[in-house]
Amino acid sequence: MSTKQKTYLSKRVEQLKPSGIRRFFELASTMDNVISLGVGEPDFVTPWNIIEASYHALEQGYTAYTANAGMIELREEISRYLKSNYEVEYNPEDELIVTVGASEAIDLALRAIINSGDEVIVVEPSFVAYSPIVSLAGGFPVPVQTDFKDGFKPQQEQIEKAITSKTKAIILCNPNNPTGTVLGKEELIKIASVVEKYDLIVLSDEIYAELTYDEEFTSFPSIKGMKERTILISGFSKAFAMTGWRLGYAAGPKEIIQAMIKIHQYTIMSAPTMAQHAAIEALTNGERSVREMKKSYRQRRNFVVHSFHEMGLSCHIPGGAFYVFPSISETGLTSEEFAEQLLRKEKVAVVPGNAFGKSGEGYIRCSYATSMKQLEEAMKRIARFVSEVKK
Ligand code: PMP
Repeated sequence: MSTKQKTYLSKRVEQLKPSGIRRFFELASTMDNVISLGVGEPDFVTPWNIIEASYHALEQGYTAYTANAGMIELREEISRYLKSNYEVEYNPEDELIVTVGASEAIDLALRAIINSGDEVIVVEPSFVAYSPIVSLAGGFPVPVQTDFKDGFKPQQEQIEKAITSKTKAIILCNPNNPTGTVLGKEELIKIASVVEKYDLIVLSDEIYAELTYDEEFTSFPSIKGMKERTILISGFSKAFAMTGWRLGYAAGPKEIIQAMIKIHQYTIMSAPTMAQHAAIEALTNGERSVREMKKSYRQRRNFVVHSFHEMGLSCHIPGGAFYVFPSISETGLTSEEFAEQLLRKEKVAVVPGNAFGKSGEGYIRCSYATSMKQLEEAMKRIARFVSEVKK
């Protein structure tokens, strides 16, 4: 008789690799006095007026489900916000869906478009969820690597090389997690020409759009001919410091959004009602708070990049999000060795770059969404560690 134990798990789930981020955070959670630059979430508490709007909604008894696609008042606000900030127009009636975080929007979008065996191009280093979600939907993620020398911007030839007859879509993350790279209008136009040529769909994750520090942000669907081919993903977690509220959205062609709503109505029903009320306040009266948080992130970014340069490490200047992605290859350690030794010796938690794909090897991701005081201490500890290992 075979000794191999029977598994009840699906092959798709069995084959998923655990997130490369988790191991370090399990280790860090067993230690005292650790400064974490690991997690990708704002250190700010959600602005008070947003919290209050949710209190009021609860007081008034708004505790039931909303429409499957989300409250029409919220969809109208999202539509207005996208138009005035990014020059993209979506009909709140049928081209928008409110989801449980951008995470659900990404899942729905991929499930709505992927047929078994379809390939989806993922620009790496990338947010850790894209490839597993593509696989869960029955597709194959195809990585396109980016390089430090190009500022981690995907090159047109590289994308074209990865395209086959099975390629269905490409996932862009702009500004990027983990590199902080922002793709400008000219770069997006180049990508758009490839998208058009090969008849692809684009999943454009713009959850960090508000957090760009050096240049005006261009939304991918605002590029000529791209609105019809793009599923725009965004949410409230980052700019409005609302990670725990679990609220995001997707905008796109009616046919795709309606297909996403079909999945959502069976699996989720509707996103949290009190969070939707809070989100309306965020979009109508949250601008000043976002501006203040952004100013603070920008200051911290400049400090952290400067600190890495002073240590003699190469570090590109990230134009957006709240991550820096310095090279640690000068130390002779791999990303994982660096992260693990730094944690054990100096109690600073960072994420090894290879957690975000092959081209992340030789780098680490540090989130600067933490207080200046903590950042100053963390940079001191990292500098001490780097000078030790470089000896
Ligand atoms: N996309 C990117 C690029 C992210 O970094 C994150 C959060 N780390 C998400 C989506 C998911 O955000 P949400 O909290 O809205 O699910």
